Amino acid sequence: MSIYMTAPDDYLSWVLGETYYSPNEEQIDKYFIVSLSGGKDSTALLLKLLEHDILIHEVVYVDVGKEFPEMIQHIKKLKKIVEAAEIKFTILKPEKNFRYWLGEHIKTKGKNIGKKGYGWPDFRNRWCTSQMKIETLKKYYLNLINNKNTVEFVGYAADEIERINNNKDKRIKEYSLVNFDMTEKAALEYCYSKGFDWNGLYEKFNRASCYLCPLSRLSELKYVFENYPHLWLEMRMLDDMSFRDFRSDYTLKELEKKFINEFYEDMWGRKQLKLNFLEEG
Ligand code: SF4
Repeated sequence: MSIYMTAPDDYLSWVLGETYYSPNEEQIDKYFIVSLSGGKDSTALLLKLLEHDILIHEVVYVDVGKEFPEMIQHIKKLKKIVEAAEIKFTILKPEKNFRYWLGEHIKTKGKNIGKKGYGWPDFRNRWCTSQMKIETLKKYYLNLINNKNTVEFVGYAADEIERINNNKDKRIKEYSLVNFDMTEKAALEYCYSKGFDWNGLYEKFNRASCYLCPLSRLSELKYVFENYPHLWLEMRMLDDMSFRDFRSDYTLKELEKKFINEFYEDMWGRKQLKLNFLEEG
């Protein structure tokens, strides 16, 4: 359900000679929250709302603890401008961390009862999204909804309408990027134009999600391996705790071998690679 907070006020826009947004009758007495993931779409949403001085009471961000260093800096930068606009900026942390859910949580039901940890997430079992992000947000919003009449701004882009249609929960939401007709591509360009570039993260990654995500593209994982060795080392530790392989096509160790081989192949060429390894063998 949407109440079109981002539909301009026709009359005031006409009087002022510029697009003007103000709460309409339906919007009075509501508490407006922005759900911020830190990615390009929700960042564009937040910046756009600030640009048009659209009423926001609070910005909420869930910190899963596995964000790239560039994303941590990006969130700090956004927090600063949000707080300078006298808007509350809330950082939520899940009650239990990634390591707990991956390797320590004791299952209490299902066929794996008594077993430890969910293991690495995969396409069918994204426990990190459900247990850490969605549940944390749900709990926080439930508390807010009990006390306030909330409306949540969600950063789905204009070319992601199917995500809006799939949304099943009952919270009142506002999809302003759709009202602004802003696609994913336009959202990224808009963020860049406002000076938010994640220090180049989006040039390497399709989505600026967790650095250890097994659902990332192979090229993205290779970039992590080559550029963030300390983060990769942590993935090795978690891998030892996981009952499930990192991915169905490659284990973490197989990926390392693949990336190292590719490194030497790029340097020497395939033929020389074989010769060098044969000589060493
Ligand atoms: S990005 Fe990957 S690891 Fe992070 S919460 Fe989403 S599915 Fe889980």
